Amino acid sequence: VVKGRAEEPVYIWISDQEVEIRPAAHLWGLDTHETAAAIQDETDPQAQVACIGPAGERLSLMASVMIGGTDSRAAGRGGMGAVMGSKNLKAVAVRGTSKPEYFDRQGLLRSVRQANAIIRDNSLAMTQFGTSGGIITTEQVGDMAIQNWRLGSWKEGAPKITGERMAETILTGNYHCHACPIGCGREIEITEGPLAGLQGSGPEYETIIGFGPMCLNDDLESIAAMNDLCNRYGLDTISTSGTVAFAMEAWEKGLLDSEDTGGLDLSWGNTKSMIQLIEMIGRREGLGAALADGTRAAAERLDANSIEFAVQVKGLELPYHDPRAFTSMALGYATANRGGDHLETMTYWHEYGKEWPDMGYVDPPDKLSSEGKGKMVADFQNFMQVFNGLGLCKFIAKAGVGPQLLAEWTNLALGWDWKVEDVLSTGERTFNLKRLINARWGISRKDDTLPPRMLSHPRPSGSAQGNLPHLGKMLHEYYEARGWSEDGLPTPEKLEELGLSDL
Ligand code: SF4
Repeated sequence: VVKGRAEEPVYIWISDQEVEIRPAAHLWGLDTHETAAAIQDETDPQAQVACIGPAGERLSLMASVMIGGTDSRAAGRGGMGAVMGSKNLKAVAVRGTSKPEYFDRQGLLRSVRQANAIIRDNSLAMTQFGTSGGIITTEQVGDMAIQNWRLGSWKEGAPKITGERMAETILTGNYHCHACPIGCGREIEITEGPLAGLQGSGPEYETIIGFGPMCLNDDLESIAAMNDLCNRYGLDTISTSGTVAFAMEAWEKGLLDSEDTGGLDLSWGNTKSMIQLIEMIGRREGLGAALADGTRAAAERLDANSIEFAVQVKGLELPYHDPRAFTSMALGYATANRGGDHLETMTYWHEYGKEWPDMGYVDPPDKLSSEGKGKMVADFQNFMQVFNGLGLCKFIAKAGVGPQLLAEWTNLALGWDWKVEDVLSTGERTFNLKRLINARWGISRKDDTLPPRMLSHPRPSGSAQGNLPHLGKMLHEYYEARGWSEDGLPTPEKLEELGLSDL
């Protein structure tokens, strides 16, 4: 745990057992790619670098921590880059040469290899087209976020921004995180036109939806450029794109004019203005200063009425899975501990049709119904606490890794005797612990809500047309399943059961 704040910019260099705090004034102001390269030059070419860019230095609440230099993997959500920036901590660089010890190394390797074969077979489309391979389906099922979540269909635009289109145009290869059997990461290069010369990490599903249909932009190359900019500044692409879309709607409604924007025309789909606005957000300049902390803060700074179309929960912009199309996500977003977050829930996969036999979920529910989702969301949140805590990629869960395998791998690694129930009860304890921390900050049922656009503005067309989640009813079911009070707080009995009664 890094406590306190350095007086001058620093980075932490960890080489096997040695830990050193080094000056980083010469790195302050560099983008994340430049920072990682400079630190590898100073330390070890094989060092892994997690760093912030100019957005984190300027304490943007949308600032991410970027990992792997030009590979651009992101700890994107929740403004962790601002936490590092507040400590004057530019980066943490690590190089380890010893191998971890396992209780049963051979058994673990055997089990992981068996699972990898299944994961690979179940993820062929992800390998070929990346996370954006399903974009046509996303549009067809009414899940696509369009024009700041206002429209219901975008048939004309969707085919132009898919993973398949990327493969036909700018894709040059796959990127695999360490030891990954899938390799969903995209490597791209633009060779013609105004963006010629851009190369590196390509945009993912969330980034494509955010800078694509959310802003009525069907130009895939411009989305790749916006992705690159966010990665370099160290900005979360979900929150940044949600905030750009918010600004475009404010422009449309006359709440922003060209004096506010420094001359930018924020009409929907204006890619040049979007690119400039991202630069302004990353540097906290001009209108970017008002937008750099996301839509909730921007609404407070610009015009109180604009909170109506600030699509966020607890200050975090929603990721691009529509809770009006997959109602379990309404509950997931409303109750996730860090705000509008899909990674604590992931139940839309089950509503899409994926079965989870080792959790007892083999019969996917009606995705538009608000009935019977409370226990399911709580169970999946519990599972995801452990999954996330083990540092595993969500896409292997989608490909078949459930709590049974988590228990098996934990036992082989540590010599424990976990069963599925232990995974889920550990997850339940973790989720409640996080809720207790939030409760200390005053979070309760009043905060477990959704933005007006999700509660009272149905999609006007498409498969999810007219549907809205009945959040009050769902919350009642959910709190009951969790053993929480109607005010959304863990009861003394529940804390006793979880061994948390001293908190
Ligand atoms: S670990 Fe996950 S995010 Fe990384 S390449 Fe593999 S599937 Fe993609």
